[in-house]
Amino acid sequence: EYKGLSKEQMLEIRRQNCNPMTMKITYYKKPVFIHQGHMQWVWDVDGKRYLDLFAGVATVSMGHCHPKVTAAAEKQLKKLWHTTNIYVYPSIHEYCEKLASRLPDPLKVVYLTNSGSEANDLAMLMARLHTGNFDIITFSGSYHGGSSQTMGLTSNSPYKYPIPTGSGCTNVMCPDVFRGPWGGSKCRDSPVQTIRECSCAHGHCMANEQYIKQLKETFATSLPSQIAAFFAEPIQGMGGAVQYPKNYLKEAYKLVRERGGHAPLTCCVQTGFGRTGAHFWGFQGHGVLPDIVTMAKGIGNGFPMGAVVTTAEIAASFVKALHFNTFGGNAMACAVASSVLDTIKEDGMQQNTLEVGTYLIGELAKLRDKYEIIGDVRGKGLQIGVEMVKDKASRDPLPPQAMNEMFEDIKDMGVLIGKGGVYGQTFRIQPPMCITKKDVDFFVAVFDKAVHSYMERN
Ligand code: PMP
Repeated sequence: EYKGLSKEQMLEIRRQNCNPMTMKITYYKKPVFIHQGHMQWVWDVDGKRYLDLFAGVATVSMGHCHPKVTAAAEKQLKKLWHTTNIYVYPSIHEYCEKLASRLPDPLKVVYLTNSGSEANDLAMLMARLHTGNFDIITFSGSYHGGSSQTMGLTSNSPYKYPIPTGSGCTNVMCPDVFRGPWGGSKCRDSPVQTIRECSCAHGHCMANEQYIKQLKETFATSLPSQIAAFFAEPIQGMGGAVQYPKNYLKEAYKLVRERGGHAPLTCCVQTGFGRTGAHFWGFQGHGVLPDIVTMAKGIGNGFPMGAVVTTAEIAASFVKALHFNTFGGNAMACAVASSVLDTIKEDGMQQNTLEVGTYLIGELAKLRDKYEIIGDVRGKGLQIGVEMVKDKASRDPLPPQAMNEMFEDIKDMGVLIGKGGVYGQTFRIQPPMCITKKDVDFFVAVFDKAVHSYMERN
């Protein structure tokens, strides 16, 4: 039973003592007051249980307070919390070796940080020092962090401040096969087909070549001949689980490498550690091999942590100054993250993600066929987006008011999901990887009801 601060006290403290923007991102008219979690469930202070399909933004991937991860944390808690890299302590070495063993050759050198922003910041620096070039490319709609450097990579207006941030970052058109000008049913590597027929002419899919043409135009108009890096998530997270046409990343990497960017970079902050089901790392689904991979979120199941993994060659260029991080790779984080890697394997989390995720995408696709306002269902594994539209013909985004009504309703019926997309038009489902088909059936019934009720009201 909960005996802490009252709801009113919490809201008052939030108003007085917390970052004022936190009031804005509460999202719900009637906020949720969470105080406890177990696996895919969280409880509010009144004892109401919610099915958590957002997992702290794809972070609590093993489940809240997963017994194995919690036991590993408890064990380490009594031994050693923190020391510095001046000394040699086992947990960081155990972890770096274990993490490196999960990446393909030659990605073998690990740097540990405390967040995704820090990891991306470090990767930017590394790419620039290694190539001797400065310019970095990212996709429109992306979110790569809140530090002043990564804010430059981020291409999402609500997260932009009106001051110079992260200079040298150029955004290219996100090759979004649903909202973008090109693409359609067969363009992406996805377990379900969109209802939109391929819009391409000439009897073959042109989405890939058109988006690549856009990229080439950016090279021709906005960038010097030599660049440092290309920064892309395998499936864009905050942008709303956006998927690209098949082969796009492969061809983009080639173009970047031709321009001196020896460091195409993949940001697996959301799509690593088995979240896409079919692959352990999201980039593997694109058949590409990045030179630098950044990761965070699911890496520590909620314990603050991030990492950059690169090649020995790039690491050798990153020695012009000492790189030091007080908490990066602390003994607690390493013990937790090590247990996460073990748990993914022991509990069959990746396989479950593939099976349950594919089932969920299929069930949601049925609702897409039933309702005019569900424009697109997409994703892989448990990295899923449901894009809401005014109608299927226009594909205009459903306005925030409508999104919020359904969002609130879904929460009141006991399910937490996320929202994303440049216009806030996409529901995001990125649950703990331990969810079951029964959870899926419950959510799909809830979602069906929320959409149905909204349509009846409007
Ligand atoms: N990259 C991506 C793709 C993210 O989704 C996020 C966080 N939403 C970040 C980077 C930044 O991570 P952090 O908040 O841990 O700094």
